[in-house]
Amino acid sequence: MNNLLIVLSGPSGVGKGTIVNQLLSDGGFALSVSCTTRAPRAEEVDGKSYFFITKEEFERKIADGGFLEYSNHFENYYGTPKDFVLKQLENRDVILEIEVDGALQVKKALPQALLIMILPPSEEELKARLLKRGSENDETIAKRISRMQYEISKKDDYDFTVVNDDLEKAVADIKNIIANKKGDIK
Ligand code: 5GP
Repeated sequence: MNNLLIVLSGPSGVGKGTIVNQLLSDGGFALSVSCTTRAPRAEEVDGKSYFFITKEEFERKIADGGFLEYSNHFENYYGTPKDFVLKQLENRDVILEIEVDGALQVKKALPQALLIMILPPSEEELKARLLKRGSENDETIAKRISRMQYEISKKDDYDFTVVNDDLEKAVADIKNIIANKKGDIK
């Protein structure tokens, strides 16, 4: 099987969601749906945005070895369901949009996975974007900012970094990285 597992990470507010949507609408990729114990946001749909499950269900799934990776951040569990991803990989390249600790677990388990970190043009700009988003309270925003600094500090553990100062260019860069990697493993 020649399909790639592509792990995209990057601090909150960097534009990962928009980039992923663009990659998906251009076609050729499946997106993994993670499990989480956090509450759904207004626009989120169970089974599409995430599988929203309880802490007990999540811990049972950990015990059953059901996650390719998982982590506990922002006081909630987030994890990639193993079966779901392996099934999708039979048909196409799969994108995981996950944070750094999980990404590094994936790399350990599957060294052929391609890890790409999306970076902001500057930390200051990202802070401004996070504040403008306005969907969360001050404490949550402060946590996201310190998490942002942690995530950026792990960038050298990734195979590639892409700066998102122009959406079209960032998407094109990611597609090139993927095409090159697929060329290498043919
Ligand atoms: P949010 O709560 O904003 O949806 O996501 C918070 C963070 O959790 C983001 O950095 C996102 O990439 C990460 N995340 C989402 N799903 C997973 C997952 O399955 N595993 C891990 N490790 N992180 C995830």
